[in-house]
Amino acid sequence: MSDFRPVPEVEKHGEFLREVVELLFKNVVFTTRRDKVLLWQTPEELEKQFDFGLKQHGDDQEKLINLLRNTIKFSVKTGHPYFINQLFSGLDPYGLAGQWLTDSLNASVYTYDVAPVFTLMETHVLAEICRMIGPEWGDGLFCPGGSYGNGTALHLARFRRYPDIKQKGVGHLPRLVVFASEECHYSVHKYAAFLGIGEDNVVSVRTNEVGEMIVEDLEEKIQDQVDAGAVVIAVVATLGTTVRGAFDPISKIAEVCQRRDVWLHVDAAWGGGLIFSQKHRSKLNGIEKANSLIINPHKLLAVPQQCSLFLVKDKEILHRCFSRGAEYLFQKDKHYDKAYDVGDKYLQCGRKCDVFKFWFMWKAKGSSGFASHIDTLMDLAEYFERQVNNRCDFAMVSERQYMNVCFWYLPRYLRGKGDVLRHSPQLHKVAPQIRAVMVRHGSVMLGYQPLKQLPNFFRFVSQNSSLTRKDVDFILDHIAEIGDALFK
Ligand SMILES: *Cc1c(COP(=O)(O)O)cnc(C)c1O
Repeated sequence: MSDFRPVPEVEKHGEFLREVVELLFKNVVFTTRRDKVLLWQTPEELEKQFDFGLKQHGDDQEKLINLLRNTIKFSVKTGHPYFINQLFSGLDPYGLAGQWLTDSLNASVYTYDVAPVFTLMETHVLAEICRMIGPEWGDGLFCPGGSYGNGTALHLARFRRYPDIKQKGVGHLPRLVVFASEECHYSVHKYAAFLGIGEDNVVSVRTNEVGEMIVEDLEEKIQDQVDAGAVVIAVVATLGTTVRGAFDPISKIAEVCQRRDVWLHVDAAWGGGLIFSQKHRSKLNGIEKANSLIINPHKLLAVPQQCSLFLVKDKEILHRCFSRGAEYLFQKDKHYDKAYDVGDKYLQCGRKCDVFKFWFMWKAKGSSGFASHIDTLMDLAEYFERQVNNRCDFAMVSERQYMNVCFWYLPRYLRGKGDVLRHSPQLHKVAPQIRAVMVRHGSVMLGYQPLKQLPNFFRFVSQNSSLTRKDVDFILDHIAEIGDALFK
């Protein structure tokens, strides 16, 4: 007989955690369409309704449970079908389980001995994705987001041209320039600034009427910069632009880059997940010609945030560029092959384990499960576009390229008027007003934005494959109903 008795503290904590899980099940995981997406409060109201203050003494468990309840109450339910605000949505049970597991283990992936399973798992996932991209692809990183991946690419592009900057710094460099389309992700500019390249040295290449980079403009602008004495270090091409979902003509861009010996980075944060779909993979044709690329499984593939991959063709460059060999962590006399200590090729030290939830979802669904997820979403986007085109109270902004459906709601006075852009100033005010009503109701969260000379428009884009055609009809009817009431 053992005289083991649970320590009261452990019992108390166990009870507490079980209660938390109950709460999450009831109020987050198993919500339905009848629940609101959010309970909107202004910042001033929320300050009053929520106990943000921190005190000398701790609260008891009942109070803590209440704090959790309120946190959920006033937070946005991004797993709700009508959260259509960003390039992530949905709540995958296997992804969530994966996230819970790694959070419980509190893993940090840098050396094999502290993260044996996750280290090998990262290697397997990176190798498999590389294999799906092309035979020459060799290495990669898990990143805290695609933005960071874009920054990493610019850094590597510069390092390849000037390997001694690792020791000497950037003081002796000429003016460097980077090219990206005018519809590229803003992180290109941010990281150009961060790296000391400067935002002004990110040259915007013009896009055509559907949002694709115009290669002739790229060539002209490269020549202009070369004539002006600048050194071109990278071209960033986007596969799946954030707003319109356009795909830059990658093969033609790659040809320019090869001719000029310039690093080609492909930002496929949003479009890259398509590698899983036989039906739609062709949108990525040519991706293998890049030097580096990013894919965000937390976007199209609905892996919980964050899960972002940076891949690179040159198998040595990450180590050459980033390794430092800190001897308190990457000791040279370990009892196993230190090649398994992957951490030194990263800029981060401690690092969250993002691989597991992706790997686990992959195990649960198989590649074919990701493919059908994608195909379902693409069908839904097609249906959405068809409905917009069929109705006189809506108009497409430009032809759909991917899952992004960019559209205007047209108040009565703008219907059947031909070129709606002649009424841009009025149209510009429509989407924000409708959105404000939807958010205050908590019914639908749908994003909008202007683009180039185009006035504000809505962007429908879902990564939640439980959305149905009925939901699409509901969303359009809901917008129309609010619009009719607002714009008599
Ligand atoms: C979302 C997005 C990014 C940035 O990814 P984060 O993970 O949000 O940092 C970069 N490029 C494109 C095209 C994107 O859509």
